[in-house]
This record gives sequence, C-alpha cells and structure tokens, in this order.
Amino acid sequence: MNGVLFGPPGSGKGTQAGALCEHFAMTHVSTGDMLREAVRNGTELGKKAQSIMAEGKLVPDDLVGGVVREKILDLTARDRGILFDGYPRNLEQALFLDSCLEEAGTRIHVAAVLEIAEEELVKRICGRRLCTRSGCTGAYNVYFMAPKTEGKCDLCGSDLMQRKDDNEATLRERLEVYNGQTRPLLEYYEEKDLLIRVAANGSVSDIRQSLLAKIEEKQGGSR
Ligand code: AMP
Repeated sequence: MNGVLFGPPGSGKGTQAGALCEHFAMTHVSTGDMLREAVRNGTELGKKAQSIMAEGKLVPDDLVGGVVREKILDLTARDRGILFDGYPRNLEQALFLDSCLEEAGTRIHVAAVLEIAEEELVKRICGRRLCTRSGCTGAYNVYFMAPKTEGKCDLCGSDLMQRKDDNEATLRERLEVYNGQTRPLLEYYEEKDLLIRVAANGSVSDIRQSLLAKIEEKQGGSR
C-alpha cells in the first residue's frame, strides 16, 4: 500500500507516519527529512534549499521531484509500500507523484489528513525539540512532553535541538503556504475517493487508533 499524509506544521505528521509505517510495513518518505539531511551534508541540493527552508517557503518542485522520483523507483523495485510525508505540497507535485508511481506500476491507495485548529500549533511548533543523533527518533515538547533531563534525549542521551524553522514567524509563513497551496490538494484526493480526515487534537495513541481504523475501513471498502 502507498499512502500520503497531510497536515499543517505541528499536526504530528512525523510521529503518526512512524506508527503507520510500522503497522502497514511501509517505508516513510519525508521530503522535509531528506532536505534537512541534504543541508547537513552540504550537498548541491542542500545549499539551494537551506535559505528557502529557513524562510518557510517551498523548495522548487524540480529539485524536490528529482529526489522523490529516485526514491520511488528504488523502493517500488524492492516491493516496498511508501508513506509520503510532506509530499506532495501543491498540485504540480501531486501530478508528478502520480506519474512517477505509474511509471513504477503502482498508485496512491489512501490519503489521510490530520486536522487541528491553528491556535494549537504555536506551542507545538515553538516547544518542539528533536534528538541530534542521526537515526534517533527522540522527539519532545518543552510544554507537553519534556525530556527527563533538560536538553538531553531520553532514548539515547544525545543533545536535543530546535529546528531552524520552528519559530513563530516561520510557522506563520509555513501555515500560509499550507493553506494556500497544500490544503486545496485535499480536493484532488477527495475526488478520487481516497481521502480520510482525522482530528489531531487528542493523545498520540488516540490519533493513531483513529488513523488506523479509518485507513483499514477505506481499504476494506476499496477491495
Ligand atoms: P517539513 O519537515 O515537511 O515541515 O518540511 C520542512 C521544509 O522543507 C518546508 O517548509 C519546505 O521549505 C521544505 N519542503 C519539504 N517538503 C517539500 C516539498 N514537497 N516541496 C517543497 N518544499 C518542501
């Protein structure tokens, strides 16, 4: 199964994507993570993306599309289902995604959106802290889910960091991009009868249960 996960910044996409991938044996493809890695490694893509990301704007479609296509061809060749997180962000990317999947002989089977009021997002984003160790999934919030030792990861003890774009000014820009370019895409998946909507203001495990139940229901209906 291939899926797409939508939601504004701070809606918990990354956390839920991890749980869905484990449950449905999919590979998590996060374009945000791929771009941050390119920035860390100082690649050509990273150099081009860095300042655009810091401003909360979208990196040009052709730059992101190139890495997404490579990933799709590699994973589908290995018969892995994919969960896209942060891609597509606009209609051009959605059309490109469909064409890449078609080239690989497959398609999107489900699209899910995490829905949450904007007032909730500021604390979620500005309080977010992530583990600096590559591959560690430690994620915290200084307001709701503080680490046991300030500034250190509970899982591995490494330092925690705050993403450069996790500040209120950039959040406003990211929300504007989401509402203006990404949210209209939901209609694209709704028209294909692939969209499920999940309220994202409960606990992590309640949201996960609700997502899993709705995806299984959708899959059952399409069999
Ligand atoms: P995310 O981790 O998904 O919130 O993405 C962080 C930042 O990476 C975004 O604000 C964009 O600057 C960039 N980015 C991630 N995915 C895309 C995409 N599909 N298209 C363009 N830019 C992206």
